[in-house]
Amino acid sequence: MSIRFDDRVAIVTGAGNGLGREHALGLAARGAKVVVNDFGGARDGTGGSSEAAEKVVAQIKAAGGEAIADGADVANAEQVKAMVDRAKGQWGRVDILINNAGILRDKTFAKLDIADFWKVVDVHLMGTVNCTKAVWDTMREQNYGRIVLTSSSSGIYGNFGQANYAAAKAAMVGLMNVLHIEGQKNNIHVNTLAPAAATRMTEELMPPEVLKLLEPGKISPGVLFLVSENGPSRVILGAGAGVYAQTHIYETEGAYLPPAENTPEGVAAQFARISDPAGQRELQGAFEQTGHFVSKAAAAQGIK
Ligand code: NAD
Repeated sequence: MSIRFDDRVAIVTGAGNGLGREHALGLAARGAKVVVNDFGGARDGTGGSSEAAEKVVAQIKAAGGEAIADGADVANAEQVKAMVDRAKGQWGRVDILINNAGILRDKTFAKLDIADFWKVVDVHLMGTVNCTKAVWDTMREQNYGRIVLTSSSSGIYGNFGQANYAAAKAAMVGLMNVLHIEGQKNNIHVNTLAPAAATRMTEELMPPEVLKLLEPGKISPGVLFLVSENGPSRVILGAGAGVYAQTHIYETEGAYLPPAENTPEGVAAQFARISDPAGQRELQGAFEQTGHFVSKAAAAQGIK
């Protein structure tokens, strides 16, 4: 069955360039009405113009689709609220939000100014929070919402020179986990994308023959699946060069250390057992961990 977005209203942030543009074009081509958001600045978040978003809107309209351009800075909650109000004023609802806008201010942690740390957190984390918060009540009222947060392999696995970016991108996973739990009863699905693509963000990092394989358009089919009606929730989807993979976070079975062994030396002695992957599991919530610890400790001590 083909995946369509007729009568769905979507907001894609940072959709004037790179991945966001591809997501917006893909949604519009399958029937969605799209708010193409982009503040139109440089890669480091300076400057700004509506040109990038308007160009994408023109492309969507030329192909027979419906779209409006919006220049809200996602880090500015008031501008974001005005953007959501515009979308609702125009089309009456918001079904899909793809949080994609992003900037880079790379430096080693030793050289990184706190102002550059904040700026990156502001755009990636608070930008995502602002946009998600601005659509959340609407999605709850509609009993329908599909949200994507854009993380990065830098955030999940680490990358030299990206402490600010990695911290903000790892925060997407925590945000997704809670929004998934809280959105469940209102049919709001929340997923996280970890893309790898040739865009202005990565153009200096890899040789041209590698970049050729990493066209941004190769990511969007995965994103469209995530925001589709029957798409999953709480998935971290890696995507790049036409390859998709899911990231899982597992916790080991663990080991109970009785009081005499519950010392730094005891932990050191048992560390191989503590970290043994045999029987590791993916937990569905914080209290699942607490519950496991309590029942394991109780069982070891014969407490019922
Ligand atoms: P890009 O620079 O081509 O696009 C990002 C867009 O976001 C730009 O058009 C920019 O104007 C817009 N933007 C930046 N700050 C904004 C703000 N405050 N408000 C509104 N718009 C804003 O980069 P891209 O590679 O397409 O990145 C898209 C997303 O994917 C980002 O979140 C990025 O961190 C993430 N990502 C990209 C890669 C990759 O390999 N390209 C890897 C991991 C994660």
